[in-house]
Amino acid sequence: MSSTTFKIAALAGDGIGPEVMRAALQVLRAVEKKFALSFAITEAPVGWAGIDAAGQALPDATLALCRASDAILFGSVGLPDRDPTIPKEQRPERAALLRLRKEFSLFANLRPVQLPKVLAHSCPLRPERQGDGLDLLVVRELTGGMYFGQPKKTEEIPGGHRAIDTMVYTTPEIERIAHVGFQAARLRRKKLTSIDKANVLENGILWRETVTRIGKQYADVTLEHMFVDNAAMQLMLRPTQFDVVLCENMFGDILSDEAAALAGSLGMLPSASLGATSGGVTFGLYEPAGGTAPDIAGKNLANPIAQILSAALMLRYSFQREDAARAIEAAVGKAIADGLRTGDIYNPADATAQKVGTTAMADAIAAAV
Ligand code: NAD
Repeated sequence: MSSTTFKIAALAGDGIGPEVMRAALQVLRAVEKKFALSFAITEAPVGWAGIDAAGQALPDATLALCRASDAILFGSVGLPDRDPTIPKEQRPERAALLRLRKEFSLFANLRPVQLPKVLAHSCPLRPERQGDGLDLLVVRELTGGMYFGQPKKTEEIPGGHRAIDTMVYTTPEIERIAHVGFQAARLRRKKLTSIDKANVLENGILWRETVTRIGKQYADVTLEHMFVDNAAMQLMLRPTQFDVVLCENMFGDILSDEAAALAGSLGMLPSASLGATSGGVTFGLYEPAGGTAPDIAGKNLANPIAQILSAALMLRYSFQREDAARAIEAAVGKAIADGLRTGDIYNPADATAQKVGTTAMADAIAAAV
């Protein structure tokens, strides 16, 4: 056994959450064996499951568990058809997820987008724009910028109203997200494209200057700058040019969704939200990019890959176990290469593809680890 035991809070949530979480935990157990790691995994309710169990979307006991853990593996929360009368601030999406982001100061959001060549049919772009497959990572600042800057208000003026949102960034906020971006690039193809609007925004000038200065500490990473409007276009025209894409909050919100569309299915997309590092462990919350998919929940139809790859990100960014993260990613790659497809990525025209359910996909990936 390894001398370190990593403490994981597993919060499956609602809809497909429990089935895809089961799959991810099965894969983590396989990794634990193979790499002689030790995971202390504790499951707890969140979302409607939290409301049903303890009257709160984020029960006190669940929050306490998260505080005592090194990382949170999160499923998804929210069921659109459940009690529409419950106030907005008590609904799971806000009361659980936004609360956790705030509680743990999760300032960096990482969204890898990978599309292996064999899944070219899932991508809305023509095959010749996909190169040998897509593989990029959007790193988004999550706690600053226009979404949180003050003043933020709507006031009356003669003839109507005036709405004010304020875009604010400080040097330390840009520095810490830049470090996350450069370090992520080091684990990949060592290229970072920093996105801004330095031709128009004061924030853009400070962003560009700060990222350039931090970049000097990462001489092995190639840094380039791109205006956000051009980046939106380049993602559609030539997505293979990108490795790590570093963005402030609002630009990252928009570009990460645009990039996600390239993968074709939400069922393939993991994400990481990172907070502070202490004692070699970076606190993080890891979750699929998609939601609770009520349309397919409980039917063994959900693609567990987004949740399984979220567990891989946890190993990479929270526990600094690149070897184990890569083993999971390789196992996912093998299952796909072997032709296994859940419904969301199945192409009936592909004679080598075999349609499988959540559990069969999980079994194959765990076995490949
Ligand atoms: P959704 O992501 O749940 O579903 C959109 C579509 O993608 C559906 O057709 C669904 O079947 C499909 N899909 C998503 N994940 C899949 C998977 N793993 N495998 C196969 N198909 C998958 O989005 P929605 O329907 O707009 O939202 C449903 C609920 O989820 C809402 O209550 C919403 O608020 C919530 N939600 C939660 C989160 C979160 O917890 N982070 C994120 C987004 C939405």
